[in-house]
Order: sequence, then structure tokens, then C-alpha cells
Amino acid sequence: MTATPAGPVHDALAAQPLVDHHCHGVVTGDLDRAGLESLLTEGAAWPGISPFDTPVGVAVRRHCAPVLGLPRHASPRDYVARRSALGADEVNRRFLRAAGTAVFCVDTGYAPLPLTSPRELAEAAGGTAHEVVRLESVAEAVARAGVEPDAYAAGFRRAAEEAVRRPGVVAVKSVAAYRTGFGLDPARPAEAEVTEAARRWLAAGGRLADPVLVRHLLWTAVDLGLPLQLHTGFGDNDLRLHRADPALLTDWLRLTAGTVPVLLLHCWPFQRQAAYLAAVFEHVYLDVGLALHHVGPARARAVLEEALEITPFRKLLYSSDAFGPAEFHLLGAVSFRQGLAALLQDRVDADELSLTDALRVVRWTASANARRLYGLPAETEPDSEPVPDPETEPDPDPRRV
Ligand SMILES: [Zn+2]
Repeated sequence: MTATPAGPVHDALAAQPLVDHHCHGVVTGDLDRAGLESLLTEGAAWPGISPFDTPVGVAVRRHCAPVLGLPRHASPRDYVARRSALGADEVNRRFLRAAGTAVFCVDTGYAPLPLTSPRELAEAAGGTAHEVVRLESVAEAVARAGVEPDAYAAGFRRAAEEAVRRPGVVAVKSVAAYRTGFGLDPARPAEAEVTEAARRWLAAGGRLADPVLVRHLLWTAVDLGLPLQLHTGFGDNDLRLHRADPALLTDWLRLTAGTVPVLLLHCWPFQRQAAYLAAVFEHVYLDVGLALHHVGPARARAVLEEALEITPFRKLLYSSDAFGPAEFHLLGAVSFRQGLAALLQDRVDADELSLTDALRVVRWTASANARRLYGLPAETEPDSEPVPDPETEPDPDPRRV
């Protein structure tokens, strides 16, 4: 027996189209069991241990199996067999439609296997998609194309400006957390420093991981004038987690106050640090994507609740950070809807929050905050829903992006 969560906040979240402000494409080919299992974990394979025997694995069997026409908690064997029988296109279409995501902001800079383009993702979902440019990919393309060390800074800036001028681009992203971590000198590096660092990097080759060039990349991002997404916290085993604590960005955030919106992505297990930063810096926002599907609906409330202890309600955004299996687009959405609904409904029931305010928080976090930051069109109000529209309220800080 399962109790169906009930109440007006649950109803509002169930009906609310989401803006997923940070996600990736889904795998276009069929996945066998090993292929699917390899994508259920952020780490390497564990010989003898199935990634289905994890919080995210059981959440897939619980919440995704019914979308494929299987009973809840179907076995991994039945699950993979059903997935194969339906084929990748149908599987992707079902999960993307079931997620109820209206708008996707897609990081196109990481594709170690064939993934849907933003347009293909939007078509499969029946939504719309925008693009987020990963700046490390731009810098590495500049290096690959061949550039003199003293021309690197201008070459990178030009390439980044061209990349963000493409139609549909709404933001830039950096994976500095992976490359150096955030324990960097916060100041903008001098030109001579950048040339010297470029000389070292271009001679050595490889990924951009020089601390001076990473700083230069972050400051170039500020100059571009678009919202900047920063991966923080949870990620794959390429990461050193303690260096991805967003609190390490404090001095840099102080220096960049009044410039571009900075979106702290993922954040887990540092959602409280991120919440603090969002509370004290006007340009800082956060989400708890990636963690949502890894902790599953069973714990999404706890993660969201910690984030919302002090995060201003206009500064939390929804993201799935889904990458690979389309299941993650659904799981992220289910986790967000259920987790947020449960915590808001409890506050309403305890009279800590009015229902009107709870419904405003739903609209803001699920959609309006992202629409405002990325300059996306406002959601059209469903006729039947008497929810106050946050878009009509005076905006203390209107942004043109
Ligand atoms: Zn991501």
C-alpha cells in the first residue's frame, strides 16, 4: 500500500510545468544492463555490486518502472528487458513527457557518448530548449586550433563571445570545481600572468587546469554578461569534493558583486553553505540538482529543506542535472515535486506559511526564478488555477540578460 500525498501544495506542484535550468542530453542508443548500470553511478563500476542496489537504483525501479508499464519495484532484469523491448526513442519520449518539464537549459559541453541535442531533447519532451556554453570546452578548442601564448587571452574571449552569440544560448558554465577547485586567488589575473600560464599549458597540452587560466576563465565569464553556472559539490570521481565547496568562492563572490548572476549547481553536501552565499550575496542563486535523483524522492525533502533553511525563495531554482538515462529527467522532477510539496505543505499545516505564500514559492522555484534570470518568456497562467502570479509582482531587481 502506498499513500498518495495530498493537499493543495502537492496538487500545485504536480500540475506545475518545470524549468530545468541545468541538464544534459539523454543517450540516443539502446542501453544494455551494463550500459545502464554504468550510468546509474557517478563513479567507476563496482565488480560484484550492482548499481541498482543503491538509493538511485531503487528509485529508478520504484518510480520509473511504471512509466515503462512495469509494476513498481520491478527487478533489474525485467526493467532492462522492458527498456530494450521498447527501444531508446520510446523510452526517452516516455520519461521526458512524464517529467513535465517545459523548458530545458542544456549544457552541451560534455558528451562522452552520443546524446540528444537540445532540439532533440525538446522535441522528445514536447518542450523548448536553450543552450548553456561550457567555457572550458571553448578554451580547449582555442588551444587545439593553435594559438600563440600572448594571443590566448584575446582568442579565448573572441571564441567565447562567438559561442554565446549563437541563437538559443542563455548562459555560460564553468567546471572550475573539477579542474582546480575553488581555493583560487580571487583576483583577476594580470595579462602577463595569463600569457605565461598559457605558454605552460599550450606546451604541456591536456585539459585546462592551470589555476591562473581557470581564474582568467571565470573573470572572462563575468565580462560576457550572461548568467554563470558553476558546478559545485557532488559530481563524478574526477572531482575532489572538499575543493568544490562553494564557500571557498566567498572572496571571489565579494569581488564580483553587482556583475552577473552566479548559479551554484548541485551543491550537495554543501547546500547549507550555498544557501548562506545566496542569502548574503545578491547575485548568488542555487539548485540541488544531481542530488535530487541520487537521493531519490525518499530524501529529496531533506536536501531541499536544508537548502531552504535560509535561501531566499526567489533564489532557489530547479535543475535535474540529468545526464545519460532519460530516467534521471523524470526522477529529478519527481524528487523535486514531492520533496518540495511535502515540506511546504507541512509548513502550511503548521501555519508557518500561508497557502498563498506556499504556492508563490512553488511557482518561483519551479519556473519563475529561472525564467527571470535567463530572460525566458513568462509562463502562461493556466486558466483554472487561482495562483497569484509572481510575474505580476513588482520585481526588486529586474535583470536584462
Ligand atoms: Zn551537469
